[in-house]
Amino acid sequence: MHQDLNNRANFQCQFMFVLPQQNRSKEMKRFEGKVAIVTASTQGIGFSIAERLGLEGASVIVSSRKQNNVNEALKKLKARGIEVLGVVCHVSNAEQRKNLIDKTIEKYGKIDVIVSNAAVSVAAASILETKESVLDKLWEINVKASILLLKDAAPHLQKGSSVVFISSIAAYQPQVPITMYGVTKTALLGLTKALAAEMAPDTRVNCVAPGVVPTHFAKFITKHDAARKAIEGKTLLNRLGTTEDMAAVTAFLASDDAAYITGEILIVAGGINSRL
Ligand code: NAP
Repeated sequence: MHQDLNNRANFQCQFMFVLPQQNRSKEMKRFEGKVAIVTASTQGIGFSIAERLGLEGASVIVSSRKQNNVNEALKKLKARGIEVLGVVCHVSNAEQRKNLIDKTIEKYGKIDVIVSNAAVSVAAASILETKESVLDKLWEINVKASILLLKDAAPHLQKGSSVVFISSIAAYQPQVPITMYGVTKTALLGLTKALAAEMAPDTRVNCVAPGVVPTHFAKFITKHDAARKAIEGKTLLNRLGTTEDMAAVTAFLASDDAAYITGEILIVAGGINSRL
């Protein structure tokens, strides 16, 4: 009997070891019965987060500004066997934010996880010379919309629910030409601390600060070989991040594995120097 248990444990150990990453996340069903909203989730980091939560059993609500992108994402996630609802939502549009929550509640009746991932970045050589309308847009999409979405969602958040903000390594050292973008990402770190205190103990609030990931968003840097290599060189792991790296950490923070973590920021940047 003892030998039999030993053999089984050995077999499971080897099995876990050889199982590819995505199948492993499929085996780990930390979000069974949970409902997760991910904003800006039709491509890039948001899509990978939706996919990861879905593969781990969550019913996922994907959204972004364009209906055709929502449709595409729905198709891909359904093909992976994920229970998913798609809703168009430009995060700075109050009606669309409310509709996102209403449609979620209509279909699933509750919210367990919100990942606030939408952001805009505007290049400018100088903060002092940035137009007021641009400052407003950066603040509105990157910070204010996250607060207002939570305001709409709050009555439906379950005991034990979890919020994850997606900030950036740029939060720690805002850099030209996207300095104000970096500053809005610094604001998310403060928002994480403030909302974690306000929403405890029923809801945990944490934050992921990604390093550079070669998505559409970061193309303006990563398409240049020299710039890409320079960033890789600044990491200790000699590579850029992947959307799956970000999804794995977001899923951890959103899951009960992080049940005793709130108000924290996890930097996922391959060891790039990141402290203030
Ligand atoms: P991405 O690949 O370009 O994807 C952006 C997604 O956001 C798309 O699905 C887009 O779809 C949607 N979107 C854009 N504006 C939106 C809005 N106003 N409302 C709702 N949806 C919107 O970008 P990403 O690199 O994954 O970036 C995601 C997050 O990671 C951002 O918060 C960004 O600041 C952060 N981040 C990225 C990096 C990086 O290197 N990539 C590094 C640090 C932090 P539609 O066009 O259909 O709206």
